[in-house]
Amino acid sequence: MPLQIVRNDITTMKVDAIVNAANESLLGGGGVDGAIHRAAGPDLLAECRTLHGCQTGQAKITKGYRLPARYVIHTVGPVWRGGQQGERELLISAYRSSLELALAHRCETVAFPLISSGVYGYPKDQALKVAVDTIGDFLLAHDMTVYLVIFDRAAYAIGEKLFADIAAWIDDRYVDAHTDSRETQYRRAMSAQSGVGMPASCAAAEAGEDTFEQLIARLNQLDESFSQMLLRKIDERGITDAQCYKKANIDRKLFSKIRSDVHYKPSKPTALAFAVALELPLEEARDLLGKAGYAFSHASKFDVIVEYFIAHRNYDIFEINEALFAFDQSLLGG
Ligand code: ADP
Repeated sequence: MPLQIVRNDITTMKVDAIVNAANESLLGGGGVDGAIHRAAGPDLLAECRTLHGCQTGQAKITKGYRLPARYVIHTVGPVWRGGQQGERELLISAYRSSLELALAHRCETVAFPLISSGVYGYPKDQALKVAVDTIGDFLLAHDMTVYLVIFDRAAYAIGEKLFADIAAWIDDRYVDAHTDSRETQYRRAMSAQSGVGMPASCAAAEAGEDTFEQLIARLNQLDESFSQMLLRKIDERGITDAQCYKKANIDRKLFSKIRSDVHYKPSKPTALAFAVALELPLEEARDLLGKAGYAFSHASKFDVIVEYFIAHRNYDIFEINEALFAFDQSLLGG
């Protein structure tokens, strides 16, 4: 998965480069900067002295010394002064400069802390959005695996309203499924299963909405595999393969595997990631999921959350992953 949000201590990440949220002097500070210098040892500070500081929004690179990471990219995020002093642009620039530097040094894996969100006071939810959007944009054009490392749980808060909306959606569906009588649960399970066997498009056909030719076409599609349906939908959407797998946050190798193996059976998160990338309406998302042998289950928080986004036609995979993370679920993608 090209962008992953993980909870960890960045100094332990085994990646090509970790990014340091430094200050302009590059001579060490508190927070993540202090932790990185402690873990890397004194040689890091010695090399930093030769760099003569770094401007806000820019980045410089050093070796990683005792860290498991080969490089440290030092970048300086903006101090939050209320949001009208160009903070957002500077924060975007800090992420972009770091990513460009990583690219120039052929890094394939890079880990970022949530820049500016500590002592520099950038509101955490906004800092997170800038990070996810900027890294996401960059990954549309470049193959790299980027980890956004969240240190403390408090740093990770999706918007309160979105959180409340999703919580209510889960309440309506998930809790329902868990408080039903056995008999009702059984009925639900059976109807979910029959949903897999009969795609919604077929149900529409049954309702007499199709012409005869459309019906034949739909019947032919019943034999389609997941891989075939995916490729057909990509063509129908008029997008390229790369646009699709990048939007799905799936790496190229996995996509090639799916492409070349007609009978490839993806994991449920992968199948759902493609449904989101293709911006399928809920019914079509169910069809695609069905091709991989899955159905939306209201007994799974993961499913209910993804269903929430699809039903609201919000296909921003990074936003969906933020929400999944906030609810302690695994993330969409490969
Ligand atoms: P800034 O000055 O840019 O705000 P800070 O170091 O104060 O930088 O904080 C940036 C973010 O890094 C904060 O969200 C903080 O919780 C987080 N952080 C602190 N230590 C670590 C660590 N060891 N690994 C990952 N993130 C960390």
